[in-house]
Amino acid sequence: IDSCFDKINEQGTQVFRKKDNQFYLHPWEDLGSFGGNDRTVAVGGEGIYLFDSEGNKLIDGPGGMWCTQIGYGREEMADAIAGQVMRSPYYSPFNLTSDISVLLAEKLARLTPGDLNTVFFTTGGSTAVDSALRLVAFYNNCKGRPNKKRIISRKDAYHGSTYLSASASGKTRDKNYQDFATDIISFIDSPNPFRKPRAMSVEEFRDLKVKELEDKILELGPDNVAAFIAEPVMASGGVVVPPVGYHRMCLDVCRKYDVLYISDEVVTGFGRLGHWFASEEVFDIIPDIITCAKGLTSGYLPLGACIVSDKLMAEMGGEQAKGVIFSNGYTYSGHPVACAAALKNIEIMERENILEHVREIEPYFLSKVKELEDIPIVGNVRGQGLMACVECLLNPEEESPLELDYEMGSRIDSQCQAMGLIVRPVINMNVMSPPLIITREQIDEMFKILRRGIEKAMDELIRDGLWEMPN
Ligand code: PLP
Repeated sequence: IDSCFDKINEQGTQVFRKKDNQFYLHPWEDLGSFGGNDRTVAVGGEGIYLFDSEGNKLIDGPGGMWCTQIGYGREEMADAIAGQVMRSPYYSPFNLTSDISVLLAEKLARLTPGDLNTVFFTTGGSTAVDSALRLVAFYNNCKGRPNKKRIISRKDAYHGSTYLSASASGKTRDKNYQDFATDIISFIDSPNPFRKPRAMSVEEFRDLKVKELEDKILELGPDNVAAFIAEPVMASGGVVVPPVGYHRMCLDVCRKYDVLYISDEVVTGFGRLGHWFASEEVFDIIPDIITCAKGLTSGYLPLGACIVSDKLMAEMGGEQAKGVIFSNGYTYSGHPVACAAALKNIEIMERENILEHVREIEPYFLSKVKELEDIPIVGNVRGQGLMACVECLLNPEEESPLELDYEMGSRIDSQCQAMGLIVRPVINMNVMSPPLIITREQIDEMFKILRRGIEKAMDELIRDGLWEMPN
């Protein structure tokens, strides 16, 4: 790594930045700044740390994009990937199969709850959700219910970036300039207890949010509603941990009206909450479909999966289904090299007891998050497992954030990065999901910088006359 840094001198970084601005359109690029960005150039990694082209060592607070579970620089992962490249780098999943993909499908079927035993491989999370939504529509066509097509999702949810998965996403700020399939997706409110009316108890709030689901099904007509889709913990919508019992009650409502439940575990799967999947073990639900990606390969290669219950498969299949083709899939469905990476990732997680480690270290991690509450600009902190969010609210009396609040995530991120920590900014929030191998000492290091970063951002506001400390 050191010799790599030697080669990338100051001039090298500038050259990369220039080319980045010239040629590379990034996800969620602000076109007003296109061509004028000053991005950090990542060139290496080891464990929980990323190295940039200027020789800085940065704690990867967001774990890439909620995905680097086993951490960077795993040689055995490189060997597994290289080995599969030499053995069999590709096969067509349309007419062949592969030992490695079959082994992974079997493994996933064993890790998922209940009767979720059929695995449809995709290229990432968006395509996993897209496939789940298409499968739900296909299922109702198979069952002769062409009108049962509506999907209910939630405000602030993020389910991906294909036309359909983006349509099922509910983040208002993403809705401005794109087109969406508004005719088949309906939204209910986010179950964010931080946004509940002050006079209401958490239980009352939960019951209200569950009732909203039932009311929405009744409003649309149960014969028109195909599925409810939900992340167990809303991730990029701000680590929204729902009130206890929420998902169980939503599932009961879905069962009452013959509405399918899709649990989007793209973030919560593969140890983020201390279990392979959070649906059953943390939230006591066995959904009809689980979608996953990200931590499935710890981000070493792109791969996703949409895992379907035996019940659904049986209802769609059988003698009467001859010639009924599920025409959905990708050139890279079940890509053998990505599957080899996933199998190696699962093997490492098992061998190193990473799920147990997450469960053991979770209370410590969450206690460090809680300690940030005493900083005056922090409005709320929350988290579960190894995912957390710090939300700034400059005026706690305001129900919704001020314009200045919207900058706080970025202000804190730049302060922290200068001290060696990346924390992903989301409007007025900073979200964290470090690699699952993080130790207590590294958690201490992370929160020491984060506290300093928030305080520095606060001092900056005071210095520039933008905000005053409340009395
Ligand atoms: N679903 C959830 C809950 C996600 O957080 C994401 C990505 O962040 C996706 C789906 C989309 O996954 P991908 O970016 O791999 O397509």
